[in-house]
Amino acid sequence: MELTSALLSARRPTRRINVGDVPIGDGAPISVQSMTTTKTADVDGTLAQIYALAAAGADIVRCTCNEEPAAEGLAHIVPRSPVPIVADIHFHHEMALAALEAGVQGLRLNPGNLRKEAEIKQVAAEARDRGVPIRIGVNAGSLHPDLYKKYGGATPEALVESAKNELAYFEEVGFTDVKISVKASSVALMIAAYRLASETFDHPLHLGVTEAGPPPGGLVKGTAGIGTLLAEGIGDTIRYSLTADPVEEARAGRQLLESLGLRERKGLDLIACPSCGRAQVDVIAVAKEAQEALEKLNLPIQVAVMGCVVNGPGEAREADLGIAAGKQKGHLFIRGKIIRVVPEAEMVQSLVDEAERLVADGVEARLAAADSGAEAEAEADRRALLDTTGHDPNRTAEKIEIIRRHSDN
Ligand code: SF4
Repeated sequence: MELTSALLSARRPTRRINVGDVPIGDGAPISVQSMTTTKTADVDGTLAQIYALAAAGADIVRCTCNEEPAAEGLAHIVPRSPVPIVADIHFHHEMALAALEAGVQGLRLNPGNLRKEAEIKQVAAEARDRGVPIRIGVNAGSLHPDLYKKYGGATPEALVESAKNELAYFEEVGFTDVKISVKASSVALMIAAYRLASETFDHPLHLGVTEAGPPPGGLVKGTAGIGTLLAEGIGDTIRYSLTADPVEEARAGRQLLESLGLRERKGLDLIACPSCGRAQVDVIAVAKEAQEALEKLNLPIQVAVMGCVVNGPGEAREADLGIAAGKQKGHLFIRGKIIRVVPEAEMVQSLVDEAERLVADGVEARLAAADSGAEAEAEADRRALLDTTGHDPNRTAEKIEIIRRHSDN
């Protein structure tokens, strides 16, 4: 699949760091992160969640390291994890040192609550010696009180200055293996802060709208903030912060990157028409059924479910595979070309069967295997449907005429 990211603003150049085997910055694929919700001391429970997150699209997973049993848990988790592990540190620099000892591939420090210069430098020096990168994770909700006072609140300038101060401590001990985040729960504040951070630093940026809340609101906020910045070329790694199963975060992150053409499609992309007066089936129900059946196959294809054969195959001609409803029939198409006509009850099953064959055999082979009469049968259905519903099934022309009559009076 060709990536469509060339249509977006060019990505801002940043330095390269590596979190374990995942490269970040300097043109590396934008990575998806999420965070476990288990107690890190619960090794098996945490590993089960990490595996689920990795399967849903997470490239890196963060675990809290808030107490000694958590650090001990990390020592068991890191060697068995399928993805690099970042330890999340607040307040206690000893926990950062313990996490490094446990073998984590990254640290996240919050400059708002880990404030002693000597301790910060000690952690940075240890990370430097071990070759482990650190994220300077500034958060509007836990901004350093001095900066809050200086700027009269958590402004973009205050968030960026917090990161700058921390970076200065790091640089004093010769440590530059850093990525930066300036998160806020306000989407507008977060966008402004990251724009400023992008002008200020050449370190990779980790994007997120913090405390975004449960879906769908949390998804909307995360997408508004992260998506806007990515479209401007800002951001090297992302995390949705949802009050939900973190698998939802990983899935959303992956889908956002795929939808912007910034990562290759790994799984299903189901598109469907919104339905209208011309629809010949319950599009919502068929799309839901198709999504459930196709998701299980985990195939990297775009599949369309369209409500009618009049516009469906044409409007969805970019889709790898699709089905459009006719009169009690389904018109199965590949890249807009009808290959088979099936009974309405078999629409979803025929999509599933064809999806597997398409991925196994390729587009050309499946087009060559099309039923010979399929195009003609679809055309006859299309004409029949046009005869029944006309060219204006939503009675738009009639409505406009009524509106005009009202305005003339
Ligand atoms: Fe769906 Fe057909 Fe209506 Fe388009 S014209 S929205 S494909 S039912």
